[in-house]
Amino acid sequence: MADGSSGINKDAAEKVLAQINDQEVTEFLQGLVRIPSVNPPGDVRDGMKYCADKLAEVGFEIEYITQEEEKPNLLASKSDGDGPTLLFNAHIDVVPTGDENNWTHPPFGAEIHDGKVYGRGAGDDKASVTAQVMAAVALARSGVPIKGKLIINEVADEEVGGALGAQLCAQDPRVEPDFVIVGEQTLNRVCLGEKGGAGCTVTVYGRAAHGALPWEGVNAIDGMGRIITAIQDELQPRLAERTHPLFQPSSCTVSMISGGVKTNVVPDKCEIYVDRRIVPGEKPEDVRAEIEEIAEKAIAGMKGMRVEVALGARGGREAHFCDENDPLPQAMLEANKFLGFNAEPTGFSMGTDGRHFVAQGYPAIVYGPGDPSLAHQPDEWVGVDEVVDATKAYALAAVSLLTKD
Ligand SMILES: [Zn+2]
Repeated sequence: MADGSSGINKDAAEKVLAQINDQEVTEFLQGLVRIPSVNPPGDVRDGMKYCADKLAEVGFEIEYITQEEEKPNLLASKSDGDGPTLLFNAHIDVVPTGDENNWTHPPFGAEIHDGKVYGRGAGDDKASVTAQVMAAVALARSGVPIKGKLIINEVADEEVGGALGAQLCAQDPRVEPDFVIVGEQTLNRVCLGEKGGAGCTVTVYGRAAHGALPWEGVNAIDGMGRIITAIQDELQPRLAERTHPLFQPSSCTVSMISGGVKTNVVPDKCEIYVDRRIVPGEKPEDVRAEIEEIAEKAIAGMKGMRVEVALGARGGREAHFCDENDPLPQAMLEANKFLGFNAEPTGFSMGTDGRHFVAQGYPAIVYGPGDPSLAHQPDEWVGVDEVVDATKAYALAAVSLLTKD
């Protein structure tokens, strides 16, 4: 398999790179950004067809994996012989624009200014979709035979968890990849894996009473105040020391709060959500127990009060990452090396659809154009050069994995 500089066949690489046209890549991205696919509601049909048509033109076989009509998932495949299956995945749905007055450039205009394409989804995640589709097109046009199978799997539903998107695809028997490359904004760095998540709901129960007679009740918001302070003073410094060479440190932040029923009632309940991101070695259940212990200690002595801590709906997930020396990350690193890009592996600190493939036992890495800190913001943009670079890198990773004898 891929190792050292023998990973990429130079001849094949040059043939494929010659088929990548900057203008065509840019225009494809602009066309895709101009097709709104805001989630919710998450109707991606037009964007999906746009990608499918481009791939069908160069001989890809088009199928869909669909549970909900508005949320088809593309399965475009091509094979010229025996070998492993490489799957590229990225998502077509985008988050809402927010107040459009906060945008300088129209969110679905895909205008280009100073070499940047502006628009909702320009980076997250239509830049990756574009680079994957155009890499596949280049490979097909080059005539370099694919030994194995290349699958382009553009999906719906990522921004709301992926149950009808990547999760559905990863569980489909038609999808059995040996290698998965998930496109998200990594600034074209090779991310060996992603952090885990173990968000928890913390609920404090007290006792209601008339607001004029507070001593008759037990104020749940008072208790929660102590818990939030304890999370800041005790938990956050502890987490800052839980580090891992690939990832940002372990972290938590209180992201939601609700409590109280009326201005003149002592609240009997208060709830917060703690967004908790975990590094390798941390387990969701331990993380929950740790928050519980801190919360119980914080309200100890407040008579008539109790606290419950529960993992979020999906029960949390551990961090995952591939060994740097495995063939999949090696192929992507080789591609970056070949192109003179950053070939130092790293990790991704946000969640991606990669977890759904990992849950089925398929190795997944994350790689794509764009800056994650621009995602979900007004005036989201991606550099044209980054998208072209990613197109080349994806194409070369495919050459590395799918052209071996
Ligand atoms: Zn994304």
